[in-house]
Amino acid sequence: MARFAVLPPRALEACTVSIEVLPGRGWMGDFSHHTWHIHVQVGKDTPFPLTGYRDRYGWRWDFASFADMLATALAHEVSHWGNPWLQSESSHNDTALRQVLHLGFQVWGEQRFRESPRPERCP
Ligand SMILES: [Zn+2]
Repeated sequence: MARFAVLPPRALEACTVSIEVLPGRGWMGDFSHHTWHIHVQVGKDTPFPLTGYRDRYGWRWDFASFADMLATALAHEVSHWGNPWLQSESSHNDTALRQVLHLGFQVWGEQRFRESPRPERCP
């Protein structure tokens, strides 16, 4: 079963999801007033497959396509929502990676460097 399906129904009813595609490279998410904002940054010059993308938490990622990157960003943010007891961004990355691989997305990722202190917004 996909991890996406285990969100409590109350949470789904109480939240709006907003996804924006912006120039740059990476993703970040935040929650405010029942709205879940996910900003996926992909410039028109971003090559896919995207290899060697390094997030601010010391993870190195490879994404075969934009869909693979978007799925990973969503899975990461869903992990924040569904697993609030996880304290590190690395834990959410790990959860997201396992979920997208289980769903068949073509993603590779591992923590290569030490995680820096948690900022107010996600990667
Ligand atoms: Zn995060």
